[in-house]
Amino acid sequence: MTANPDLAALIRTIPDFPRPGIQFRDITTLLLDAQGLAMSVESMAASAIGPVDLVAGIEARGFLFAAALAIPLHAGVLLIRKDGKLPGVTIAEEYALEYGEDRIAMHADSCAPGARVLLVDDLIATGGTARAAVRLLRRAGAEVVQAQFLVDLPDLGGADALRADGVDVTSLVSFPGH
Ligand code: AMP
Repeated sequence: MTANPDLAALIRTIPDFPRPGIQFRDITTLLLDAQGLAMSVESMAASAIGPVDLVAGIEARGFLFAAALAIPLHAGVLLIRKDGKLPGVTIAEEYALEYGEDRIAMHADSCAPGARVLLVDDLIATGGTARAAVRLLRRAGAEVVQAQFLVDLPDLGGADALRADGVDVTSLVSFPGH
């Protein structure tokens, strides 16, 4: 099922959240576990394709891993937020979630042209969010060298779609099915 059975066991599955038919993979239980959290961040840092200038985290759970990874990678953190939250001049992209639709944004001046960026989020499902983040980063002139996720739901196709977009994708835990 997954290369990291210990980490998978720390992730709680909540059926029918936030709506019927969704198996919500809840990482708050992994965050509560000191060893599990440390192991997750260390494994992500170890599989990073370096060097990177910035780690881009997607709101909100992606922020946790972006900041934790940026420190050992000697990189800064770039915030990709829900549209309307960032105070400066932003660029935005629309995307479809596994449930619903939304827009994400980043500060237009938050990365230098050619900056090497590692994109991070807690989970990739359909890939709508991460692909919109890659479009944003590329519009800003970044080179997206890799995308890392704690959890991949491979049957939803997001990781493969991101690879087709030309991004190297890694994840620690994989849950088959929806
Ligand atoms: P997607 O755009 O479909 O790849 O969805 C990714 C985003 O939605 C991530 O930020 C996840 O936190 C959240 N998400 C989507 N599906 C799930 C799920 N089944 N369990 C937990 N989080 C999910």
